[in-house]
Amino acid sequence: MNDAGSDATANGDSSARAWALTYSGKVRDLYVRPDEQQLVLMVASDRVSAFDHVLEPGIPNKGALLTQLSKWWFAQLADVPNHLADAAGVDAPAELADRSMIVKRLEMYPVECVVRGYLSGSGWLEYQESQSVCGIALPAGLSDGDRLPEPIYTPAWKAPMGEHDENISFERTVELVGAEVATALRDASLDIFARASAIAETRGVILADTKFEFGADPETGALVLADEVLTSDSSRYWDAELYAAGGPGRLASFDKQIVRNWLSANWDKQGTPPELPAEIVEQTAARYRELIERLTA
Ligand code: ATP
Ligand code: MG
Repeated sequence: MNDAGSDATANGDSSARAWALTYSGKVRDLYVRPDEQQLVLMVASDRVSAFDHVLEPGIPNKGALLTQLSKWWFAQLADVPNHLADAAGVDAPAELADRSMIVKRLEMYPVECVVRGYLSGSGWLEYQESQSVCGIALPAGLSDGDRLPEPIYTPAWKAPMGEHDENISFERTVELVGAEVATALRDASLDIFARASAIAETRGVILADTKFEFGADPETGALVLADEVLTSDSSRYWDAELYAAGGPGRLASFDKQIVRNWLSANWDKQGTPPELPAEIVEQTAARYRELIERLTA
């Protein structure tokens, strides 16, 4: 994690020299410029992580594809205030343009705003223990992949770097950010989820769940949709036709599931993960491409 050197072109090229790396996540790198304090350059790398490890090699073009998808979703949700700062007239370094967003620097809320329309992943695990997810009671008898009676908001606390995010109750988000902001985060998340699901459905794609992040505009305090939105790194998408057919592949998601499956079968989760074989890399890249084509065509 935090391998700041892997996208060194952002600092090594003269056209980009003014941008200084300020934060490096597992997947994305953030840069700031001394003369543009209110802006952030967000660069999505091709790095892919699974089971909390960044893997080798990356997935070619992943950063550009996911950036394109985020921008497309921001455009679909044009009336939702977002952090894109295209109007600021500051360009990303040319060699990184296709994987970059210039965004307004926000005061981020430490809440991952997760919405689930279907039961899967960590929600399914929690449900099997408690018949609830993040304190929300659910009907008995649900199976992995089932549609929920209505989408639920299941926030997580955004842990400081290196720690695991932790599922929390809505009441806990009230303690973290106050009742007014907590309610606004929940309402905005559910509203955006419903709209995005409807759009995805018209393209034969199910949006099973997703995670949003919001921040406050430092000047006005207004709630602004930030981070990446509705990408295959932040969301679980399924093919509606396969889902309806009900076969074993019905919950195959449009993301790095191929990577996770291969790792599970070829690594004991101790020490450094093995290098991904070329065909796994290519299949994963194809999966990312397919989602973009399905959604944006
Ligand atoms: P991980 O390595 O677990 O993914 P991460 O989520 O912190 O950690 P990234 O998603 O790669 O790493 O980095 C993006 C970071 O940028 C997040 O911390 C996110 O909260 C932050 N962020 C997103 N939009 C903005 C914004 N407009 N202003 C300031 N910070 C932002
Ligand atoms: Mg993140």
